[in-house]
Amino acid sequence: MNTLLSNPKLQDIQEKIEAGERLSFEDGVRLFETNDLPFLGALAQQVRLRLNQKKVYYSINLHLNHTNVCTAHCVFCAFARRPDESGGYTFTLDQMRAKVDDAVKHFGINEVHIVGGLNPDLGMDYYTDMFRLIHQDHPELYIKALTAVEIDDLAKRFNLSWEQVLSQFKEAGLNGLPGGGAEIFDEVLRRKICADKTTSHDWIEVHRVAHEMGMPTNCTMLYGHIESIEDRVDHILRLRALQDQTHGFQSFIPLAFNAENTPLEKKGEPGGYTDLKVYAISRLLFDNIPHIKVHWTTLDLKMAQVALSFGVDDVGGTNLNEKIMHDAGNETPVDLSEAALRSLIEEAGFEPTLVDSSYGIDSPSPFMGEGRDGGKIQSNYSPHLSPPPQGGRKDGTENLS
Ligand code: SF4
Repeated sequence: MNTLLSNPKLQDIQEKIEAGERLSFEDGVRLFETNDLPFLGALAQQVRLRLNQKKVYYSINLHLNHTNVCTAHCVFCAFARRPDESGGYTFTLDQMRAKVDDAVKHFGINEVHIVGGLNPDLGMDYYTDMFRLIHQDHPELYIKALTAVEIDDLAKRFNLSWEQVLSQFKEAGLNGLPGGGAEIFDEVLRRKICADKTTSHDWIEVHRVAHEMGMPTNCTMLYGHIESIEDRVDHILRLRALQDQTHGFQSFIPLAFNAENTPLEKKGEPGGYTDLKVYAISRLLFDNIPHIKVHWTTLDLKMAQVALSFGVDDVGGTNLNEKIMHDAGNETPVDLSEAALRSLIEEAGFEPTLVDSSYGIDSPSPFMGEGRDGGKIQSNYSPHLSPPPQGGRKDGTENLS
């Protein structure tokens, strides 16, 4: 590493990273305490290049929020409406199909991302029919849907195990779970900001079950509200511990708190400095999750582009139609083109690489416009250079990729 970017107070951590050693809880706290952002960025970039070279992954994805009706009362949420409140909506299955059809035709999407509220009027059939119909209409699409919180809600309401819920959905066409609903794991804080939600323990266990069934998932952390540095490190290390056992997380996605229209509005939002620290330190603490993803709708496109030099190797997707963050005041585009996303990646000096959430696709989209490199897509896709962690999933499928 460039000696100009050395930091004598953190030299021991730098040596650990260069030797490929795991960082401890205390190391994580010390990294959050420093304001030496260039140093953190240089360290994270060293790891990011080792794992993912110059590649930046993206998908062409449609966000579908099938309902905003929700029985929970998370204080950071501007999206939900109570069952008896005005402004609630629920899409019919025909509406969902039409939205997917339209996005396939006009944008060439390769993935749908479906999450919504905990709507007490929707049964298992609504979801199994939804996945089956989307899969029948477009078998090439990767269907990533329902957070662990939604899976847990259905299991409780219909007296099913998490495995029974996931098995029915997998059979209907569900490919993997998104990482939402993790928020922050500290139990005291969790009771303050989302008391009705699945507990930290159960969130982790739902993902464990999914991984053991061979379903890849993502994981997230909501930061910038009332959590401390220690809460962030604790959250990350709980996820790291599960990943040691199951190897099923594909990416970690820090989610910046968007305050507008929420009861925490006066609290404000995290600044760019905190955003970049969280991304860089996440890359350094997660020695077993291959991808750090920026959900650019929680920041903005310019910050997301800068984050590519702070440990991030995945910009998520075009996020067509994203609603949850926009209901909280986010003003990023809802119809970003693939060409614009690729251009943003290339301007930062990286190689755009089209994938879905399996990270297994490497083919140009027929809908691609001319990017700055003439629309070429890099070949020889390899999600990460380091060997996969020891021990595979129970079904014998390959780890992580
Ligand atoms: S964050 Fe999710 S569970 Fe919480 S109120 Fe909003 S929609 Fe409901």
